[in-house]
Amino acid sequence: MKSDIAKFIEAARFAAKKHTGQTRKGADAEPYINHPLEVANLLANVGKIEDFDVLIAALLHDTVEDCGVKKEEIAELFGETVAGYVSEVTDDKSLPKARRKELQIEHAPALSRGAKQIKLADKISNIADIINSPPAGWSSQRKIEYVEWGEKVVAGLRGANPKLEKRFDELTEKARLKFQ
Ligand code: NDP
Ligand code: ZN
Repeated sequence: MKSDIAKFIEAARFAAKKHTGQTRKGADAEPYINHPLEVANLLANVGKIEDFDVLIAALLHDTVEDCGVKKEEIAELFGETVAGYVSEVTDDKSLPKARRKELQIEHAPALSRGAKQIKLADKISNIADIINSPPAGWSSQRKIEYVEWGEKVVAGLRGANPKLEKRFDELTEKARLKFQ
């Protein structure tokens, strides 16, 4: 039986390998793995979450959507609970982007508490990136639209983790001041 920390570091290594060659959309093109690491960091150090299934799922949260990893592989390596959280935060890429964005808003209230916490940290990480390292070519208008959409998703996640919600609110306030 592996320890929680052994599984956690294995998940970091697995995600790093799967995201090989992928970069964030910011001007400095950081390695993509910086984002799942930041999501896990926010959960542990802002959200004060100690549930390793949630922390491990955070590291893996974009591997199904962006790297073609199968849910079954995650279940085999990291367990059904982790695989369930990753599935819950994975968009159906066969749908058009606008529909996927609507569905995130619609589905948010029905997510499990663990998936809500991961999604909150994901939105915090992405909005922080839009403030500090925005995708090349995005107008202020597009940045504001992203923040407003994020607020609609997060409306359905509230109650899952007040500390993360506070961080989200501080960040959206900062974004508003910067981009409006
Ligand atoms: P995208 O989905 O194209 O990009 C945002 C996603 O990219 C994030 O959710 C994040 O996903 C990932 N990402 C990677 N690097 C970064 C980074 N440095 N900073 C932030 N996110 C990063 O954006 P949208 O299509 O959602 O566009 C935002 C809004 O703009 C929408 O509401 C849309 O309607 C509008 N829009 C406006 C256009 C215009 O020209 N004015 C054109 C198209 C859309 P992950 O966590 O999965 O990595
Ligand atoms: Zn993400």
